[in-house]
Amino acid sequence: MRRFLVGCLLMLTSHAPASAQEPAVPNVVLGIHGGVGVLKKEMTPELEKQIRAGLDAALKAGYAALQKPNATSLDAVEAAIRVLEDDPSFNAGRGAVFTHEGKNELDASIMEGQNRKAGAVAGVTTVKNPITAARAVMEKSKHVMMVSRGAEKFAQDIQLEIVDPSYFWTEHRWKDLLERLTPQEREALEKKGQKTGAGLSPARLRLDEPREWSTVGAVAIDRQGNLAAGTSTGGMTNKRFGRIGDSPVIGAGTYADNASGAVSCTGHGEYFIRYTVARDITLLMEYKGLSVKDAADTVIRDKLEKAGGEGAAIVLDRKGNFVTSRNTEGLYRGYVTADGQRSVLLFEK
Ligand code: ASP
Repeated sequence: MRRFLVGCLLMLTSHAPASAQEPAVPNVVLGIHGGVGVLKKEMTPELEKQIRAGLDAALKAGYAALQKPNATSLDAVEAAIRVLEDDPSFNAGRGAVFTHEGKNELDASIMEGQNRKAGAVAGVTTVKNPITAARAVMEKSKHVMMVSRGAEKFAQDIQLEIVDPSYFWTEHRWKDLLERLTPQEREALEKKGQKTGAGLSPARLRLDEPREWSTVGAVAIDRQGNLAAGTSTGGMTNKRFGRIGDSPVIGAGTYADNASGAVSCTGHGEYFIRYTVARDITLLMEYKGLSVKDAADTVIRDKLEKAGGEGAAIVLDRKGNFVTSRNTEGLYRGYVTADGQRSVLLFEK
């Protein structure tokens, strides 16, 4: 009997979230994130203003898309993410981080919850808005995922906006890369004709330390009750050898299913792939009947945290309950309710 009671107790506690964070917000039609961001002590008033303005603009664009006749949750997700991709404050599109070779290689994915259709692109260097390319893969091809040159050719063929790779060059991301390189590696980049950050202090060298995850993502529900999710990123600074993270991987960084919820993640992609984080959250809701909050916290604040995976997820359930769950200090995020009330949060609980 005693063993039975202990067993029951273990079953009850093994999936209990680490500790309560934010409660679910009801009546949400669009939720977004701009990644985990910088440490609070590194935040400046100017950066904070930019981030808040960027998130608010994305919420406005996504909500406006939802107000149109026949609007779908996919329209809202794409519209919100495009704004964040065009804003250099976020690690997606224009503000993408650099690879070890000094390039910007972008990944994105999108999914809808009614028929579980999905699209993704990875490792693209010339597509201005990768989220739009991901949607095009879903809607205009027979495939789910396209990578690098093939994805670029597809985007060009269907006349998406193509830019020179230099469009993605930003000084702050370039410095982030240089801080992680050895003097020899910096020199090698210089020889290849890339700009270098002369004058960077060696004390700031932080080679392998993951610092910030500022991937962007969105989840939405439309009047028909259809859910959608999307994620877009430049990946991790100093990534090598064609590394692809979780953001374009359906089930890892992005998932949507009308039976449960829509999820977009940010964080250390390798862990999110191994733990199929986005899908795991929806499965806990579908198979175990967990609330959106418990499902998200179980995966992010229990399973992932125990494994050493840093990051966060935003989740919207089919009733419009929105939660964010993170095992990090902050998460740039925002949401808008059905009546148009917008909220933006960074480090707040
Ligand atoms: N998850 C992204 C990746 O690993 C990074 C991020 O969220 O900032 O590529």
